[in-house]
Parts: sequence; structure tokens; C-alpha cells
Amino acid sequence: MRKKIIAILSVLVMIFTALGGVSFADGWRQSNGLWWYAVGANGYARNEWKDLGGWYYFNDAGYMQTGWADIGGTWYYFGADGLMKTGWQSVDGAWYYFDPSGAMVTGWQAIGGTWYYFDPSGTMAIGTRVIDGVAYQFDASGAMIVQPVVEPVVQQVVEPVVQPVVEPVVQPVVEPAVQPVVDPVVQPVVEPVVQPSTPGTSMFYVINKNSGIFHRGDCAAVSRMSEKNKIIVESREAAIAAGYTPCQICNP
Ligand SMILES: [Zn+2]
Repeated sequence: MRKKIIAILSVLVMIFTALGGVSFADGWRQSNGLWWYAVGANGYARNEWKDLGGWYYFNDAGYMQTGWADIGGTWYYFGADGLMKTGWQSVDGAWYYFDPSGAMVTGWQAIGGTWYYFDPSGTMAIGTRVIDGVAYQFDASGAMIVQPVVEPVVQQVVEPVVQPVVEPVVQPVVEPAVQPVVDPVVQPVVEPVVQPSTPGTSMFYVINKNSGIFHRGDCAAVSRMSEKNKIIVESREAAIAAGYTPCQICNP
């Protein structure tokens, strides 16, 4: 739905561009398949959240964030459409939970009256997990299995029975409210932003004299660059030799 709206808006922007001389209101723009958000005549959203019918984040380069992102030390997950995710999300075969602010949770969490455990990378525990030296069991949905409160069975001294392979999981009756001190430094693997290369175009590079950074010719930053700052070269070696730094977004 929002893709359709964006597509329609894009067409309108193109029509206005064709008419020429129209100054645009703030809004979505797309360069080489990456979305950004124009603010005012020459500005754009960067390093900031925007509520645009759902929360979006624009990264240091000004592009709409997708996938995993560590923002101010908190992990968030954004769909391919850039919308910040909340609640349960399955990512690459593991379950994660994001609170209403979008922050990925770790450690013990009571969600809907059920206890779950999320490891420091945010992955939901299933099966048997030893947490702070205590073994807990979680069913396939991640729900902690609460053992019935039973009297400790006094083993009768009978013939030594061959112990079952399954080690008896000693379930404490105590609620698992004691939060383990987890190390928040362990981070999930962040998927790098894969830059789609434009097939069929001969490669050239554009130096920004002002910033000292050079880009692939198809980098979105190029479309925002002032003409007077552009130097076009045919090899990256030439740009490197001239002392320019490769753009970290398009990786020329
Ligand atoms: Zn670039």
C-alpha cells in the first residue's frame, strides 16, 4: 500500500519536474533504488527519525534505513519498505521481540503473561537453556515451560536404575524475575547495505571537491552534489592517487 503511494508520489514529482521550476515540499525521493527524504529546498533527513505514517530512520548518508540498525546503542529492525518493526519478528529463522519503541529486547521478558528469554543478540530461546546456572525449558514457541510444583521425590533406595538419557531439569519454583546481567555488546550480525549496481552503464567516478570523497557514478550522493564540486574520473585509482576518499555507501 505505502509502496503504491510512494510510486504515485514519485510519478507526481517527475511530472512537476518536467513542468520545471516548481519548488517541492518536503517529501520522499528515490535515487538509484534508495529512498531519502527531502527537507526544504536543498536539505534532507539524515541521522534522524521521522514519523511518516510509521517510523522511519534516515542514516548518516541520508538514506532510509532497512534491516538491522544500531541507533544510539539500541538495536532496531526495519522492513525492506523502511518501516520500523515492533512486536514479534522472525528474521533469518530466529525470533526477536521489539518493544513499542522499536527497541530489540534481551534477557527475560514477560510478554502476554508468558515468560520468554532472549539472548544478548536478541534471539529467542527455545529448548533447554542454562541461564545463570539454572536449566530452563522453552517450548517451540519460546514460552518457558512452567513445571508443576511437586514435592521433591525422595528416591527410594532401590536397585540403581539406569539413568535416563534426559537429565532431569530442576525447575526452580521461583519466578525468573532475576534479570541476568547480559552483555549488551554482543550485537546481531548486521547485513551490509548491498548497493545494486546498475547494469549496462559504463563505470565512472565522481569526486566531490568539497568533501574530498569520491563516488561511483551511480551513487545517490552524486545526484545531490553541486555541479561545481564535481570532478569526473574514469578510474578509482586516479581518484585514490589524487588523495580522495572512497564513499562508504557506494564503495567505489
Ligand atoms: Zn557514494
